Amino acid sequence: MRKPLIAGNWKMNGSLALVEQFGRALADARLSSSVEVAVIPPSPYLAAAQAAFDGTTVVLGAQTVNPEAAGAYTGEVSAPMLAEFGVHYVLVGHSERRSLYQEDDMAVLARARAALEAGLMPILCVGETLDERDAGRTEVVVLQQVKAVFDALDARQRRRLVIAYEPVWAIGTGRTATPEQAQAVHAAIRACLVAYDEKLAASSRLIYGGSMKRENAAELLAQPDIDGGLIGGASLKVDDFIAICQSA
Ligand code: PGA
Repeated sequence: MRKPLIAGNWKMNGSLALVEQFGRALADARLSSSVEVAVIPPSPYLAAAQAAFDGTTVVLGAQTVNPEAAGAYTGEVSAPMLAEFGVHYVLVGHSERRSLYQEDDMAVLARARAALEAGLMPILCVGETLDERDAGRTEVVVLQQVKAVFDALDARQRRRLVIAYEPVWAIGTGRTATPEQAQAVHAAIRACLVAYDEKLAASSRLIYGGSMKRENAAELLAQPDIDGGLIGGASLKVDDFIAICQSA
């Protein structure tokens, strides 16, 4: 009942040429309709990506969003603007935003709300640092990040979120969580969602991120509570990205 989601987070990488290459390759790849594929390029490329993926089933995502709809916020992009370019998903709470731009749980919640108000679907990223894992605090940290957002939303809004579990120590490091480690945290998140509503827990998509690549994707995606992947580095190479989509 949960359709897997494979989302490629380009971060501050890529080019217009890469957008066009992906448009052609993903159209040719005839991706299975049983997997949802999202590409999340830097915001200047959204218009080109919207055109490049036109006529394909690939959906667009954005990497961040400002909580305000408009105003004097130099450099920022709002949710209604993203919606105008056909954006479907928005990452909120990515660990790079949390650590490099001081986005705390309140800031993450404000961004999730703004996205929801504009009809977008937030992908809420959560994850522990290596120190937190070593101290045995993984579940406490991750569930706190989930609850900070879910507690503040209503039932209808909660159903529109995807949760990405991304252990900070696995992001961009080449060090992936083992399928067992990832599954254990996904199961804990799903158990936490039962407190809101059992149907929400059963239907919510929980995706894994952190050095997922074509070599390890199938094993991670085979876990019962892993419903897809948020791919960074490996989403920049079109063959690798397609291979991951095909293993879902
Ligand atoms: P990575 O990044 O696949 O390069 O580890 C994942 C992410 O940050 O979303």
